[in-house]
Amino acid sequence: MEKIKMRVPLVEMDGDEMTRIIWKMIKDILLIPYIELNTEYYDLGLVKRNETDDQITVDAALATKKYGVAVKCATITPNAQRVEEYGLKQMWKSPNATIRAMLDGTVFRAPIIVNSIKPFVKTWKKPITIARHAYGDVYKNVEYRVEGAGKAELVFTSESGETARQTIFDFKGPGVIQGIHNTDKSIESFARACFNYALDVKQDLWFATKDTISKTYDHRFKDIFQEIFDSEYKDKFNAAGIEYFYTLIDDAVARIIRSEGGMIWACKNYDGDVMSDMVATAFGSLAMMTSVLVSPEGYYEYEAAHGTVTRHYYKYLKGEQTSTNPMATLFAWTGALRKRGELDGLKDLVEFADKLEAASINTIEAGVMTGDLAGLSELENKKIVNTEDFLKEIAKNLEQTL
Ligand code: NAP
Ligand code: MG
Repeated sequence: MEKIKMRVPLVEMDGDEMTRIIWKMIKDILLIPYIELNTEYYDLGLVKRNETDDQITVDAALATKKYGVAVKCATITPNAQRVEEYGLKQMWKSPNATIRAMLDGTVFRAPIIVNSIKPFVKTWKKPITIARHAYGDVYKNVEYRVEGAGKAELVFTSESGETARQTIFDFKGPGVIQGIHNTDKSIESFARACFNYALDVKQDLWFATKDTISKTYDHRFKDIFQEIFDSEYKDKFNAAGIEYFYTLIDDAVARIIRSEGGMIWACKNYDGDVMSDMVATAFGSLAMMTSVLVSPEGYYEYEAAHGTVTRHYYKYLKGEQTSTNPMATLFAWTGALRKRGELDGLKDLVEFADKLEAASINTIEAGVMTGDLAGLSELENKKIVNTEDFLKEIAKNLEQTL
């Protein structure tokens, strides 16, 4: 078979530990034999980030803006222990945070569904994608511990010097206060990213806040979504046969649990933080959760939702075989290749991505899987294999469809 050709390079961001090992295996076993892989390679492994004073992360984000599509391996976010372990010059910021800030993106997380692994919620048949607003609210708060009686006020001073003042609370004794904010610009970007993504994957978009209680703050989110929908997306949604649906956050939670799934659920920052962990767990495993960062300009960065699987890496370093699940990392590659194919009009690349995903799902449904899925799968005959053998089994299944 002739290898599939690519036109525009895909931005490839390598990473750390076990996922770095899996990264190379996926390329060697499932990609390079079939595609003339055209990537612009950025090594975001911690060693290289330290060597370049983290410039490599910035360069990778700039390349994503230039070419439009990136695939990223999981990376270590340094803490004090990592500073020592790697002898770092400083505690570099999370690469994901750097890239997200540069692309002004929204993160969409969706589970990979296989037949033999049933979600804990019986009605869920299709994936639920969580879109988390990744700016502001409690994550950029200012907090104050009130030690004793006194008046807390909210004061805004405009550029021209006028002030607006409201009492928050007259404290009779100790307590706490917190100031949070968001900007119209960030909420607008979030809304557009959600509407674009919904059109992209042809799924309904749900959004929910607590606007009945938060009549100015949350209500602003509701209004911005509605205004942008009405003026820019209503016709496109009609044409695509999908809906935009707004409700209160508590109503949304109740409806999601009773639903079949198959929608994108846009969440404010805190709701998204909490709900994405709940949805991931209810669908089975973090190792089966994909993640894509979408910018309002239409740049895409695909990755796995999980980290570098450190515990497995230390076993690997001791020479032990590990049964680490490569599915989410593989789906980051197929997502990115499919998007590249769509943008460049390469039908064979899109088809290859579809076939590779199908082959990997078929492999698990036929009973061959990594250790983490063994306890979740309802199949009678399961064969637990190491990562490399799992990928080779996928290749075998793939070959039959090419
Ligand atoms: P993690 O790498 O997601 O792993 C936590 C545990 O979840 C693993 O020990 C393993 O459980 C299980 N697991 C996760 N992915 C798996 C897979 N593909 N196959 C099988 N089991 C899997 O999270 P962490 O240990 O908290 O973090 C490790 C490093 O990753 C940290 O340095 C953190 O900064 C980084 N991180 C990066 C990203 C990112 O780049 N997007 C995200 C999160 C964390 P068992 O050990 O029980 O088998
Ligand atoms: Mg969370």
